[in-house]
Amino acid sequence: MKTVRLDLSHSPYDIHIGQGLLQRVELIVPLLPQKQVAIVSNETVAPLYLEKLRASLEGAGVCCHSIVLPDGEQYKTWETLNLIFDGLLANRCERKTTLIALGGGVIGDMTGFAAAVYQRGAPFIQIPTTLLAQVDSSVGGKTAINHPLGKNMIGAFYQPRLVLADLDTLNTLPDREFSAGLAEVIKYGLIDDFEFFEWLESNIERLMSRDSEALAHAIERCCRNKARVVAQDEKETAGVRELLNLGHTFGHAIEAGLGYGAWLHGEAVAAGMMLAAHASHELGQIDDESVARIKALLTKAALPVAAPDLGLARYRELMAGDKKVESGRIRYILMRELGQCYAGELPLDVLEKTLKTGCDR
Ligand code: NAD
Ligand code: MG
Repeated sequence: MKTVRLDLSHSPYDIHIGQGLLQRVELIVPLLPQKQVAIVSNETVAPLYLEKLRASLEGAGVCCHSIVLPDGEQYKTWETLNLIFDGLLANRCERKTTLIALGGGVIGDMTGFAAAVYQRGAPFIQIPTTLLAQVDSSVGGKTAINHPLGKNMIGAFYQPRLVLADLDTLNTLPDREFSAGLAEVIKYGLIDDFEFFEWLESNIERLMSRDSEALAHAIERCCRNKARVVAQDEKETAGVRELLNLGHTFGHAIEAGLGYGAWLHGEAVAAGMMLAAHASHELGQIDDESVARIKALLTKAALPVAAPDLGLARYRELMAGDKKVESGRIRYILMRELGQCYAGELPLDVLEKTLKTGCDR
């Protein structure tokens, strides 16, 4: 097992990465203020892993309630959030009852938000079961639900007490979801970890075959990178955390423009990172070879490398609606060189050329 510590001054916590962690209750039990938990999962993940987790916790004398939600981003809503509160209240869960999120990013985000507000804050543990959730959404304390007018618009910063990334759970993940997670993995290499980018180039085949050792290394590296950034800028006020949005300004526009669900988030981020690469090339900052290397790696990860052609006007309109917009100016994460990003703006003519080069037509 590998452990990454998230060093927040007020609430540091560990991220454990390894195989068979669902059974390792000794990692969980000492953190529970009361031997009572509510496990929140969904209809897909619960049949696969809920009983295993419940059995090991009950074996350690922990009383477990479970709340099983419908599966899908379309359920990341107030209505579904309320089902969590219904379950907690019906089972007389108290302020010291720990909420455990068992699932992907949707379950993690919703459970975290529920924990943030249930009786003004209940303890919370993340057990992420998708690659995306293990390298990204379970780490850092952002929780949210969607509003009909925007994704993740209602939420809170609320840190878990523990993150358990059990590699075994990834074996049942559909291929497309796995690749979508790899987009976020590759993102960390591009932001500021060129050594990791090169490691990915050499090990992408092992990752694609879900080799546990390669996965453990990659997930640990991503968590280390994210933990470092989050520790410096917990609530995204210092501008450091903003680099984690590489590929996301374009990516969110792609997701919204095609209608949510047509492309997975990671797929849109992959195409968005390619657009960021083309833009950086257009600005004279990275060369042809760097663009080709990024494209080759994403292709080997079975991710899209061309963005859908929504047109310049539509892209601008969609990007202007993004959460990352500050005082009306769109901030882009761009590449100074391969493996080194910065946040900046993009002149309109460069954006136009970028879309010409980077979109499917
Ligand atoms: P998801 O939670 O929808 O999971 C994807 C699919 O895989 C679902 O159908 C799920 O039921 C299924 N699944 C999960 N684990 C499985 C397993 N082990 N075996 C088989 N199937 C499994 O999607 P996701 O990609 O994990 O997360 C996306 C969500 O995360 C979005 O809502 C996004 O906004 C959020 N997110 C949050 C943050 C953050 O910092 N809080 C960061 C990134 C993304
Ligand atoms: Mg993302």
